[in-house]
Amino acid sequence: MEGGVAACERRAPLRRLTAETEPQKTNHRNRTTESDPPMNEYFTTADGAHHVRPALRTVDVGIVGGGPAGLSAALVLGRARRSTVVIDGGRPRNRRAPHLHGVLGRDGMSPAEFLERGRKEARGYGVQILDGDVIAIEQVEGGFLLRGAYDVLARRVIVATGLVDDLPAIPGLAERWGTDAVMCPYCDGWEVRDRPLGVVATSPMSRNQAQLLRQWTADLTVFGAAEAGIADAELRAFAARGIRVAPPAIEVVGGPGELRVRTSDGEHDVARLFVGARPSPSDALLTGLGCDIHETPMGQVVTTDPTGRTSVDGVWAIGNVADLKSLVPLAVAAGVQSATQINISLLEEEIAQALESTPSGKEAAA
Ligand SMILES: Cc1cc2nc3c(=O)[nH]c(=O)nc-3n(C[C@H](O)[C@H](O)[C@H](O)COP(=O)(O)OP(=O)(O)OC[C@H]3O[C@@H](n4cnc5c(N)ncnc54)[C@H](O)[C@@H]3O)c2cc1C
Repeated sequence: MEGGVAACERRAPLRRLTAETEPQKTNHRNRTTESDPPMNEYFTTADGAHHVRPALRTVDVGIVGGGPAGLSAALVLGRARRSTVVIDGGRPRNRRAPHLHGVLGRDGMSPAEFLERGRKEARGYGVQILDGDVIAIEQVEGGFLLRGAYDVLARRVIVATGLVDDLPAIPGLAERWGTDAVMCPYCDGWEVRDRPLGVVATSPMSRNQAQLLRQWTADLTVFGAAEAGIADAELRAFAARGIRVAPPAIEVVGGPGELRVRTSDGEHDVARLFVGARPSPSDALLTGLGCDIHETPMGQVVTTDPTGRTSVDGVWAIGNVADLKSLVPLAVAAGVQSATQINISLLEEEIAQALESTPSGKEAAA
C-alpha cells in the first residue's frame, strides 16, 4: 500500500530544522518547543549512515497528515493559540488531478496550490509543518508520542492520513489515474458532459456510479457490469436509461480525452473512464492505538463521533481516513469540527488543573 506507515529505513535522510520548519515567533501561550531540553537520540539507517533524531517537541496538538482535513484543523487551532504541529507525508489522494472542482471559492484550482495556500495560512498562525511520515503513535503520560522522522509529544492527536484508492489491475489504468481515469462524477463529470464516457465496474456498488454518471451523458458504457456482480434487475434499469454494457476492460490505450478501452468484443472509444476504485483507509496508526472500527458497505472504517473523536480518549480521526466518501469541502469542515472540540477538551483540562492548584478548588475536589 502506498503511503501510510514507513519502515525505519525510509526515514533517511533525516532533516535538520530549516527556516521552513523552525517555529515562528508568535504569541502562543502554550509554546514550549524552543525551551524543551534536547532529547536527541542517534540511530543508523539501512545505508549505514548515522543520524541524530531532532529534539522532542512538545505541543498541544499533533496532526498526522497535511491534506485538506489536517491543514483545516491546524488553521483553526493555530488561530486559537494552540501550539500545533502537522507532520505530512506529502501524498494527498488527489495529487494526480490537475484541478479541484466543487470547492467553493477555489473551483478549478490545482490541488497542489490549494494545499500550499493552506500551509501558508496555517503557518501564519504559528503552526509548524514538518515533512515526513509518522510511523507509530504511543500513548504516554500526558498525551501521545508521535514517532517518525520527527518525534512530537502532543496532548491531543488528530489523524488525517486519508485513504489509498486501490485500482483494478487493468493495464493502462494506473498511469491515467487522476486525469483520464477518475472516480467522482461531481468532481470530474462537468468537463466531459455529453461526451462518450465509460464506467469500469468493480463491485455491485458500481451500479450507483453508472446511474449517477448518466446525468452527465447519454453516451455511457459500463465495462464488466455482470462480472462485478451487478444484479439482473440493475442491468434492466441500465437498459431502461440507455446505458450500454460491455465485457470487462482488458486494457486502456489512447491519449488524453480520447481513450480506447479494449475488451473481448473489440475497442470502445471514451473521453474519460470512471472507476470503482476500492478505498483503503490509511488507518494503521489508529488501529495501532486500539481505536474501534466498524463495518460499512465500503469496508472497515474507524468509528468516530460527528466531531471525529475516536474511542481512544484524546485521539481524533478526520477526513478520508474516517469518512471514505469525504470530498475536499467535507474534509475541511471535519478539520474545523475536530479543532473546536479539541480546543474545548484542552480548555476543560486547564480549568480542572487551575482549580486543583487553588486551595478552594482542592477542598471542592476532596
Ligand atoms: C482523482 C481524484 C480527484 C479528486 N477530485 C476532487 C475534486 O475535484 N473535488 C473534491 O472535493 N474532492 C476531490 N477528490 C477527493 C479528495 O482527494 C479528498 O476528498 C481529499 O483528499 C481528502 O482529504 P484528506 O485530508 O482526508 O486526505 P488527503 O488529501 O489524502 O491527505 C492525507 C495526507 O496524509 C499524509 N499521510 C498519510 N499517512 C501519513 C503518515 N503515516 N505520516 C504522515 N503523513 C501521512 C498523506 O501523505 C497526505 O498528504 C478527488 C480524489 C481523487 C482520487
